[in-house]
Amino acid sequence: MKAALVGTDGELLHQARRATGRERGPDAVVDGILDFAAELRAYGVEHLGEPAAAAGVAVPGIVDEERGIAAYSANLGWRDVPLRSLLGERLGVPVALGHDVRTGGLAEGRIGAGRGADRFLFVPLGTGIAGAIGIGGRVESGAHGFAGEIGHIVVRPGGSPCPCGQRGCLERYASAAAVSEAWASVSGDPEADAADCAKAVESGDPQAQAVWQNAVDALADGLVTALTLLDPRTLIIGGGLAEAGETLFTPLRDAVRRRVTFQKLPSVVPAALGDTAGCLGAGLLAWDLLTTPTTPEEAT
Ligand SMILES: [Zn+2]
Repeated sequence: MKAALVGTDGELLHQARRATGRERGPDAVVDGILDFAAELRAYGVEHLGEPAAAAGVAVPGIVDEERGIAAYSANLGWRDVPLRSLLGERLGVPVALGHDVRTGGLAEGRIGAGRGADRFLFVPLGTGIAGAIGIGGRVESGAHGFAGEIGHIVVRPGGSPCPCGQRGCLERYASAAAVSEAWASVSGDPEADAADCAKAVESGDPQAQAVWQNAVDALADGLVTALTLLDPRTLIIGGGLAEAGETLFTPLRDAVRRRVTFQKLPSVVPAALGDTAGCLGAGLLAWDLLTTPTTPEEAT
């Protein structure tokens, strides 16, 4: 878990990290979050002269942001955890609950790589692939909390099975995990990962280049579907695979350019906030509570 006290302009005043404690079960994770937040509040009182005026929390899985409920997380074993009200009771301040990727996207869009972009798409390439659709300063969550799941766009019909139940999903080809798996198999080194593949690409290894290009092509197919639907001004690519820098971005921009016909090309840029994006985004959600009038329903 990453946490921070965040100032008005998204400045980090204090940062802290600790383990989720998920091996002790789903309730222990919730208790850990509440304790962690209370300690941060106390830190603010002691070192900054005042407590936090609001709190934001971002969690993985399926999140009902409107009702403030962490609806489901396979990883944490959660089902319908009313995290917003639990945290509100503990801290006595307004609380916002967000989805981890959408919240990270909010931060990238407002104060990171998409700063000032009215329409952006944030796509982190990690263990899986997710997405955040930024529109006019907020991130679209969809009717059921599923908006932005670009990793499950089918790019290779009938292809590799995906844990979601479909075949040929984008994340089976272009996530950092998928590239690691492909390169481990081709290179014969079970420990080899996506970063090793990128290094081999840079040193001119043709097998690595073939693995890499497969991932880039799949990613471009998925991204072009997304930009055809959404027409973003900026496409922000993050996560482990984006750490390859221009080894990824140069062929990716080419692959996207080759596929568009009438669509306008967005600028394709690396994420700027790294793994603090979620934390900063949660801070922005909290600040929004203080600057946006709440409806009576939200206040309960
Ligand atoms: Zn899938």
